[in-house]
Amino acid sequence: MPEYPRPSRVAIVGTGLVGATFAYALMITGMVSEIVLIDANRERARGEAMDLNHGLPFVRPVRVWDCDYPECAEADVIVIAAGAAQRPGQTRLDLVQRNVAILREVVTQVARYASQERSILLIVSNPVDILAYAAWKFSGWPAERVIGSGTVLDTARFRHLLGQYFQVDPRSVHAYIIGEHGDSEVPLWSSANIGGIPLTEFESWDRAAMDEIFAQTRDAAYAIIQAKGATYYAIGLALVRIVEAILHDQHSVLSVSTLMRGDYGLRDVYLSLPAVVGRRGVERVLDLPLIQEEVVGLHRSAGVLRETMAQVGII
Ligand code: NAD
Repeated sequence: MPEYPRPSRVAIVGTGLVGATFAYALMITGMVSEIVLIDANRERARGEAMDLNHGLPFVRPVRVWDCDYPECAEADVIVIAAGAAQRPGQTRLDLVQRNVAILREVVTQVARYASQERSILLIVSNPVDILAYAAWKFSGWPAERVIGSGTVLDTARFRHLLGQYFQVDPRSVHAYIIGEHGDSEVPLWSSANIGGIPLTEFESWDRAAMDEIFAQTRDAAYAIIQAKGATYYAIGLALVRIVEAILHDQHSVLSVSTLMRGDYGLRDVYLSLPAVVGRRGVERVLDLPLIQEEVVGLHRSAGVLRETMAQVGII
């Protein structure tokens, strides 16, 4: 019995720091049989493919090569990490104009070759919610098959900090960041728990400490970019987790960015909420019992995104 029923292929468009780190993390998992690398700078994609190939004697078999868009035809997931990265002091929304133009070019090429029956588009370039919405529009694919990595990373940062504070494994912390992947994101304190116990029940719970944890979560990218120029390890692993949920049809609850279709009174905007993710993409958005403050925060986030989308003419 072969290990894989048919080759599973992940295509990565944009093999800069995020794309290459994701490729490396994915290769180590042994989860896929083919990783194809596409970049406007072909030389860069070729160099990454060579470097990754030299690691093959140490991992389970996987084919890795640089190529062009026709190779997306056989891809199960196409991850788009192409674009300009955030510079020190620059917000994610500042990047929008430049990255929408790049995204239009990339998605037009991808949609020429890839099949919307087979592939899932996973957008990671920033501002991710706006670019995921734009990718949905530019591709013409069903919204459930066009996903943004959203606040999966922010949720991981939040869980790490809460785990550290309450001295538990971050995987045992159940807490989400929702809304925009960016400055207007919202912490879901009302449902945050450890082993089913609300955080407020813990003796060490402290309002000021929780506020500080959220501030550190929200501002983490700025701190890392200030310190080392870019973020890529944790997002690489977050992408592996999303791709795993898709390829293995895991129906995992992940705070990906997805089209709002009346959820919490929101429409025609992409933002993150805990959603069930499987082989068909986003299967459904969970209906969480949000408190008023969280709903207001979510609407504020949607407002920020829609305003920017209007400024660049996407809506
Ligand atoms: P990078 O500059 O290292 O890499 C970007 C790559 O995109 C480069 O290799 C470049 O050649 C390529 N590229 C540019 N235009 C292209 C085009 N038209 N077609 C194909 N390839 C093209 O940047 P990075 O650090 O890898 O970041 C990539 C993106 O990911 C940025 O937008 C960044 O803000 C975003 N990011 C998102 C998250 C998240 O949580 N969503 C986290 C980190 C970074």
